[in-house]
Amino acid sequence: MLANDSIIVINAGSSSIKFSMYSGAALDLTMRGKIENLYSGVARFIAQDAQGAVVGANEWPDSALTHEQGMRFLVDFAQSHLDGHRVVAVGHRIVHGGVAYSGPVRLNAAVLADLEKLIPLAPLHLPHNLAPVRSVLAMAPHVPQIGCFDTAFHVGQPAEAQAFALPAEITAMGVRRYGFHGLSYEYIASVLPKADAGLAHARVIAAHLGNGASMCAIDAGRSVASTMGFTAVDGLPMGTRCGALDPGVVLYLMQELGMDVAAVQKLMYQQSGLLGVSGISSDMRTLEQSDDPRARQAIDLMIYRIGREMGSLAAALGGVDALVFSGGIGENSVALRAAVCRDAAWLGVQLDEQRNAAKPQGIARISKADSKVAVWVIPANEELMIAQHALDLVEAA
Ligand code: ADP
Repeated sequence: MLANDSIIVINAGSSSIKFSMYSGAALDLTMRGKIENLYSGVARFIAQDAQGAVVGANEWPDSALTHEQGMRFLVDFAQSHLDGHRVVAVGHRIVHGGVAYSGPVRLNAAVLADLEKLIPLAPLHLPHNLAPVRSVLAMAPHVPQIGCFDTAFHVGQPAEAQAFALPAEITAMGVRRYGFHGLSYEYIASVLPKADAGLAHARVIAAHLGNGASMCAIDAGRSVASTMGFTAVDGLPMGTRCGALDPGVVLYLMQELGMDVAAVQKLMYQQSGLLGVSGISSDMRTLEQSDDPRARQAIDLMIYRIGREMGSLAAALGGVDALVFSGGIGENSVALRAAVCRDAAWLGVQLDEQRNAAKPQGIARISKADSKVAVWVIPANEELMIAQHALDLVEAA
């Protein structure tokens, strides 16, 4: 990778496409941006350079922009802003790689066809992840594209961590726990030993707390258990997702309340979690600023469930050496970190209240010097992980 070589990372969701550009062997971030509100209302584009200066902006009033149109715009924009840089690879975040994809892979028509078979496992996300791959394949077929999977980091979990207690033939159909947010956890596992070499072989509980939220038990850099399972609705309560639910509730909703599949799905994915409990907002900042008791109740439920999962993951690890907070809530909510650490005192967690309240920027330790469990804040950086994987694959080719 030469100084003028660049890697573009695409993270495409249901209504947005985020992109980042990294340049040179050190993978310096040179540009990042996003198109939001695809398929609805006014789609908006903004791009910023590494210093945060706006280098591009656009709006599409009254037209429902598709992924393909969005990608066409982004490819044109990238080409006109390359500034002498050469795109050597495009890396994509892909939510599901099933059992087969246990690491990053070069994407071509055959792999795409294979991944399309996994759409029933992640119907809300996978089609949106794959759409930009197809667009780039059509517009710039010579540029290598690399797929990085949110499930891959968890593929090596012990069999019992992956299994549901269902009949073997159902398990054989792929109904098992996969785990998600794997690129975030892989990034955490890769930087933690650089922050503290003593943690290279540690038993770590990492909490990625954003709009989607999960926790992962990492033993010496490898995932051994996670709170998300077959889908990304399991585990912790999230912005709008309910998290773990007695499966009997689903039967009750359908049989007794007459809800159909679409209504239950909407309830579990879009109307629950912080939004559902509070009735106010899915946004942690809004809830923390509210004095409505329902806001407090939603936050407290999230904290309680994080604590319960911590016990479960500690059991899977046989002890804990470090706790890591990441994601928009984990990185920014001083109060939530304080409450979670208070509840985890039984594990040997001793938070340094001052360091916690100092709103650490970047990677920072926030536990007391003599805390048995080291507590760290590590800002999520899935994009850099994807760029690193893409670089490794193109250099190995
Ligand atoms: P996504 O999962 O969509 O990438 P983020 O990781 O950006 O989301 O996390 C979004 C969440 O982070 C929201 O609930 C938001 O309120 C919360 N958040 C962001 N900044 C703060 C803050 N300063 N204090 C508390 N919560 C915050």
